Amino acid sequence: MPPEELAKAYEPKDVESRWYPFWEKSGFFTADAASGRPRFAIMIPPPNVTGSLHIGHAFTLTLQDVIARWKRMSGFDTLWLPGLDHAGIATQMVVERQLAKEGKRKEDLGREEFEARVWRWREESGGKILKQLRIMGYSLDWTRERFTMDPGMSRAVREVFVQLWEQGLIYRGYYIVNWCPRCVTALSDLEVETETEPGSLWHIRYPEKAGGPGIVVATTRPETLLGDTAVAVHPEDERHKHLIGRPVLLPVLGREIPVVADEFVDRTFGTGAVKITPAHDANDFAAAQRLGLPSINIMDERAVLNENAGPYAGQDRFEARKGIVAQLEEEGLLVKTEPHPVPLGHCQRCGTIVEPRLSRQWFVKMAPLAAPALAAAEDGRIRFVPESWTKTYFEWMRNIRDWCISRQLWWGHRIPAWTCAKCDELTVARDAPAACPKCGGTELVQEKDVLDTWFSSGLFPFSTLGWPEATPDLARYYPNDVMMTGYDILFFWVARMIMLGMRFAGDIPFPVVFLNGLVRDEHGKKMSKTKGNDVDPLELVARHGTDAVRFTMTALGAPGTNPALSEQRLAGYRAFVNKLWNASRFLMMNLEGERASGYELRALPLPSRWILSRQQDVARKVGEALTELRFDQAASELYHFVWNEFCDWYIEIAKSYFPDPVEGPRTRAVLLEVLEKTLRLLHPVIPYVTEEIWQRLPHEGPSIMVAPFPVPEPGKIDVEDEAAMTRVMRLVTAIRTLRATYEVDRKRRIDVTVVAPAEADAAFITRHGPLLRHLAGLGEFRVVSSAPDVPGELREPVDGVELRVSMAGLFDVAAEKARLTRELAKIDDERVSLGRKLENPQFVERAKPEVVVQARQRVHELEERRAKVMATLDELGRVP
Ligand SMILES: [Zn+2]
Ligand SMILES: [Zn+2]
Repeated sequence: MPPEELAKAYEPKDVESRWYPFWEKSGFFTADAASGRPRFAIMIPPPNVTGSLHIGHAFTLTLQDVIARWKRMSGFDTLWLPGLDHAGIATQMVVERQLAKEGKRKEDLGREEFEARVWRWREESGGKILKQLRIMGYSLDWTRERFTMDPGMSRAVREVFVQLWEQGLIYRGYYIVNWCPRCVTALSDLEVETETEPGSLWHIRYPEKAGGPGIVVATTRPETLLGDTAVAVHPEDERHKHLIGRPVLLPVLGREIPVVADEFVDRTFGTGAVKITPAHDANDFAAAQRLGLPSINIMDERAVLNENAGPYAGQDRFEARKGIVAQLEEEGLLVKTEPHPVPLGHCQRCGTIVEPRLSRQWFVKMAPLAAPALAAAEDGRIRFVPESWTKTYFEWMRNIRDWCISRQLWWGHRIPAWTCAKCDELTVARDAPAACPKCGGTELVQEKDVLDTWFSSGLFPFSTLGWPEATPDLARYYPNDVMMTGYDILFFWVARMIMLGMRFAGDIPFPVVFLNGLVRDEHGKKMSKTKGNDVDPLELVARHGTDAVRFTMTALGAPGTNPALSEQRLAGYRAFVNKLWNASRFLMMNLEGERASGYELRALPLPSRWILSRQQDVARKVGEALTELRFDQAASELYHFVWNEFCDWYIEIAKSYFPDPVEGPRTRAVLLEVLEKTLRLLHPVIPYVTEEIWQRLPHEGPSIMVAPFPVPEPGKIDVEDEAAMTRVMRLVTAIRTLRATYEVDRKRRIDVTVVAPAEADAAFITRHGPLLRHLAGLGEFRVVSSAPDVPGELREPVDGVELRVSMAGLFDVAAEKARLTRELAKIDDERVSLGRKLENPQFVERAKPEVVVQARQRVHELEERRAKVMATLDELGRVP
């Protein structure tokens, strides 16, 4: 338990290390299906098991925790389920790098041992991020933690795969896929980042076998000609009609290939003749299927040319390109080369240029899955926040392509399909079959490929709850209530969860999708490790404390923006946490041993009734903002209330009541009530500092995190009180502004006459006179219905009345006159000397032009200042 007294300064580290273990041990994070309360369920976007916390996690997850803590305090049985993703490629790469340090390759270990090694790594060092999630204070239900490769989730993966197969929605076949020669695996379309880069278009002559000039084709990838199996022209192209059906000779290899006709050829591109390379181009592959042409694969899995490449076998694809271009040139077959922009796909993970590759892969037919998922968003069962993402979702779902789900990796969910060695029969099954159902053979070979990582995370909303078993958790927490994640994985993850959830769990997985932006640096630039502008959230925590970082993330949570994170904002919210700490400390020191005594609301002075009323309004607005997922608005309401209204105004006012035997105790009661409730309002955003303070105040229950979230109390709302206090504050502010403008000594009392022509106004000012005098530091204070114009008086209109302040009351007029007179003399000296210079033609000609410009500008400034000083002197001259 914490020490009784609050420390002089807020020490985040000390406080944070105490409360998280307390919360976790007390079971406050654990959802309780038997609680009889309404439920609220939300899933974490499972971080990669290889990962460490980055700023994107900190952003999304802080917003999730705000919601989870708010719902829990609002009486909901709240499940926020944590988990990790096995992250196929990423994890395999980590362990492969470790092996490389030992001078080994995964092949040296063999598949089984390699997998065991990855598991070992996962047990020992994987999941570092789980500790970091605790540092951030996230209230995740650790008793339900999942991993996408744990037995339950693996079972769900197999179940979904088998059902999709049985429903005819999974097929396999030879297709051109995106292939990363560095990662040695197929990639889905989403895993490829395409950029247009400068390249060349090479025009190459394929001579006729009979000795004619043949035909010229244009290509951006000349090395692939080694795999050509035809040249295609448009059937009506007069330039090439005579060659259709006649053989030409493939350069370099001298292999004979036919000239074929196909309507897909664009007559306007290049020469109107295109080479057909079925094994290395998706369009050519489709054409070859139509035309019955063979495919020749010229590269291995690492994009090194193979035995089909003749003299270039053993060379890398780009090395071979150079050699082939040189050879063509030498042999006079290179007609011309022109610069040509080329769209190039890069592996999202490693940046390597993707190679289209013919290989046998597994696919999911997406159209039947997309239709209901599209309808759910169209009819409003699923809503996107911000709404603008709906259109993007529609477009993608309407043009959806089949999903290549097989990956040539060792780490992941192995595809549950077996081939009979005897009869080649393929069996897809939940468990390894004992014998071939066709021939009874027992030698069955399991598919080597694993599934795309997103296949398992796509089941997250229900596989984590025990599906396919009909568990109590599944019945209670599915569908979840909201999905919150970055917009960058809308298609990778969110869309797939919707499609798979509707198909297999029988309902939409969540009614609301909140897509947050991606955190940028303070100049609005994308953060990246390579650019060195990325920020480690734990380093921010070390410097500012978790609560300051969390408040910053919450304030940045405006929908539809990529927020800019700046040091200035972090420092500002750290100051906010400190301000709350200091205010609380001040109050506790002034409790004088007493605890909250009661008060009668109507008997309280205006400022106390005002702050109580204001608090109800803030409670309402924060509740509404969180309901609408407007985190930025909730943060802004809380910030303004605590900093301005509570600390700057109310606490300052309350101090003056402390010595009063009647007002003192009840003011302290109000202060305590407002502080305690404010802590509860703030708790979802800044859990640590609020718990630390709350435990020292009179309170009910074991922890603020299970105390009720404040709702507005109608009895304490009084709009008239709020309006009256606002008016008093405006008057005080007007006088404080005067003080600041004339740099009036803080202790100097100011004499004010208020001219209030209307009787109601006069009554109002008179009634609140003592408060005004106290807050504005007034000396003599009069309210009159009219007053003559007196020289040397400042007049300030505020809400229908006029404040009149004698300058003589603000400062020593004689001394000010003397000071201004001296200033005037100095101004005139400088003005005259500059004027002389500028009249001298030699100066104007010889001096640098900017010096002349500067001098003229200075004269202008001096003249302006002179006019002001003269006016003030004139005004002061009228002071009697
Ligand atoms: Zn790669
Ligand atoms: Zn068989």
